[in-house]
Amino acid sequence: MLILKSVSLFDGDQLLEGTFDILIEKSKIKAIVPEGNKIDIKGARSIELKGTLACPGFIDIHAHLREPGEEWREDIESGSLAGARGGFTTIVAMPNTSPPLDRPELIRHIARKGREVRGAKVLPSGAISKNREGKELAELFGMAKEGAVLFTEDGSPTSNTELLRNALLYTKDLNLKIMEHPEDPYLSNGGQINEGKISALSGLKGIPRSSELIGVERCIALAEELRSPIHITHVSTKESISAIRSAKERGIPITCDTTPHHLSLEESEIIKSDFNPVYKVKPPLRTLEDIEALWEAISDGIIDAIATDHAPYHPDEKDLPFEEAPFGIASLECAVAVVLNEWHNRKQKISIERILRLFTSGPSRILPERYRELGKLKEGGIANITVLDLEKIKKVNASSWVSKCRLTPWDGITLKGWPILTIVEGEVFQIDI
Ligand SMILES: [Zn+2]
Repeated sequence: MLILKSVSLFDGDQLLEGTFDILIEKSKIKAIVPEGNKIDIKGARSIELKGTLACPGFIDIHAHLREPGEEWREDIESGSLAGARGGFTTIVAMPNTSPPLDRPELIRHIARKGREVRGAKVLPSGAISKNREGKELAELFGMAKEGAVLFTEDGSPTSNTELLRNALLYTKDLNLKIMEHPEDPYLSNGGQINEGKISALSGLKGIPRSSELIGVERCIALAEELRSPIHITHVSTKESISAIRSAKERGIPITCDTTPHHLSLEESEIIKSDFNPVYKVKPPLRTLEDIEALWEAISDGIIDAIATDHAPYHPDEKDLPFEEAPFGIASLECAVAVVLNEWHNRKQKISIERILRLFTSGPSRILPERYRELGKLKEGGIANITVLDLEKIKKVNASSWVSKCRLTPWDGITLKGWPILTIVEGEVFQIDI
């Protein structure tokens, strides 16, 4: 038995008045009582948490854990531990592995491993097409049965629009979402950074903003025609936001997420860092105007989730001139702090509840119905809890990370607002009080 003492509480939707003691027995939340109605159970371990905030365990719907096939970059176990250290209790692993997760037996394998890991629980997603080639639909039904929680070709967009359309017809009945990476690969081909002032100054080939917008508009057109829900991941431009906003106003069943890096880093960082590839991501870092549009969209409830797009590489793979380095950075262990720090920097103009929903109830609604409970903190529920100290100031020290990848733009940066404790199915995972 475990008692979390004198903690404030966010239940997945709102902050509750007062402070509480939370009693955890095995993997369940046995009781939540207002402080004062003391629960004292002999032999129970208790943790004093005055001044901190308990939330439903955070969910990351987009992380590349590289298993099977590229375990030198990351694997299910290292990703799960890194997730727990970063405040996540549930992580969705992307299927662009080697081989890709495109068959029921592969999904079964990852789902089993993901349940057994010690840190954050890992849920598999499946590829939309066989071998991610965009030619033939993968066995979506079989993969859903084995535990795939969404389908995506991420790493790249679905290359064949007809196949994407067929997948949407199919997933409508499965009650499972397609997650689409919005990009027109012909437009972005060879591109390195956002097309604009910085690409002109540096001579690096730009990725036009229309590349993302065309991907977003394709999703909207298909979702509107078929009335089949689609999730658009790592949205990064003001044009994408404006298209998504108007589609949502028209009642089209789309959802979207953005990333901690797109919410906090401008393209100018690339020049300031003298072209350090830790700033090379896809979609590329954008302008201040885009960052403002993303925060406005958070404020308006247009963005449904924040996802890390944690994309680990071995140092040798990324230790190349900017133009040759692969796209992607590691962030699981500081992603929550990056967002909370940016929220502080923005003078807390948006309610903390809005931010917390993007890590809890928001992503739980993108997953299949049976995961809805993951977004709630309540009596009788699974003891997945993330405890935050919104005032905690700490420097990112990537060399201490448990992730196999420490290539991150935030190494050495001081951030305000950190997860201090992660409880996964009743297991206290990380204490840093
Ligand atoms: Zn992607």
